[in-house]
Amino acid sequence: MNRPATPTGDHRLLAAWSDTGRPDSYDAHLARHGNPPNADGRAWRERLIAEVTHSGLGGRGGAGFPTGRKLAAVAAGRGRKVVVANGCESDPGTHKDRVLAQYSPHLILDGALMAAAALHTNDIFLCAHRDGPTYQALGQALTQRPDADRFSLVDIPARFVASEESSLANFLSGGDARPTSKPPRVFESGVAGRPTLVSNIETLAHISLIARYGAEWFRSLGTGPSPGTALVTVGGAVRTPGVLEVAYGAALPDLVASVGGASEPLQALLIGGYSGCWVPDSVARTLHFSHEELRAAGTTVGVGSVLALPAGACGIAETARILSYLAGESASQCGPCMFGLPAITADFAAMASGAGANDRALAARLQGRLSVIAGRGACGHPDGAVRLAESALRTFAVDVDAHLHGRPCRGAGALPFLPIPRRALSLVG
Ligand code: SF4
Repeated sequence: MNRPATPTGDHRLLAAWSDTGRPDSYDAHLARHGNPPNADGRAWRERLIAEVTHSGLGGRGGAGFPTGRKLAAVAAGRGRKVVVANGCESDPGTHKDRVLAQYSPHLILDGALMAAAALHTNDIFLCAHRDGPTYQALGQALTQRPDADRFSLVDIPARFVASEESSLANFLSGGDARPTSKPPRVFESGVAGRPTLVSNIETLAHISLIARYGAEWFRSLGTGPSPGTALVTVGGAVRTPGVLEVAYGAALPDLVASVGGASEPLQALLIGGYSGCWVPDSVARTLHFSHEELRAAGTTVGVGSVLALPAGACGIAETARILSYLAGESASQCGPCMFGLPAITADFAAMASGAGANDRALAARLQGRLSVIAGRGACGHPDGAVRLAESALRTFAVDVDAHLHGRPCRGAGALPFLPIPRRALSLVG
């Protein structure tokens, strides 16, 4: 088969969607991208890892860790390696991975094969929630492939921390889907004690393209520190919420404009997922979507979501609801997480409901709790909740003051806005 032309334009992962509005079948995928390169010997494996490293690809599951370094660390481990494709996408405000799996599943599967080839292993687990569209889409895609027996598709419990990498390694080793203390890290001792690469499925799809078209092609879009394109879920108070593929460095206002613009005046954006940060709309209008710029602004790319909060909503009540969800998703193994997250949720809920008005100790108590929770869990779950809470206190400072003094805030009387799974709301009523 002739190698198809190298793709141009911003739609690399979602080319099938932008060209046809339909998912790529396996045949259509091969017609678009050709076969993946032949994995041939140790030199090839080392070249692929070097190419991924040179591409600057960062993980797309939340932490943004350099993928080439992760691959090299797993490759350096002793014994047979394992590849885990993480398609769990547990954050309630993000949908990018399920859209990718629905439209370009074969890029994900090729990427998992390329990662496995780089690590000289045949053990590939595809992880997703059985009731979700990612599981269904990957299962359907496997029926089209002659190499389907290379993959094990695994149903993962639908809990937030079940998709943390040590949770997945535990679960695939026969244990509970709960995080474990580190070290050893999963890259050293993961599934069945073997060096394990846990990689988000968007990350794997990028690997599949880098293996075909090279690091320089990958870096031809994006910024120096944030090369390539990224999938971004844009939702909340926008006219046509959806998933975009954009080059890193795109202006945040352009992302909002790409989904039809704001559906009403905005007061803030929640960037990076439910473990991300609130940013005032006035600040967000000046920012670009890149790791370096969002980090400098005190927020994070996180799971790649941008949720717009309307001016008429209550940021404190929304934060209380998200914190309630995060508290309910604790694996209840670490004290600061098990007791600390309900405590800060209760503080936010008291503020939101007005029950905390004139409680002079509330603000200091909350600050004290936030300062002792971060960095104290076995996984990053409580750190994300603290990051969210602290950003809410900064972004909605005017409303915090109003709530604490019994005055109506900007969103007084507003109905709940952001989507929260129902099981999470016990702490805020
Ligand atoms: S920090 Fe929380 S979610 Fe993470 S392992 Fe400990 S109890 Fe579980």
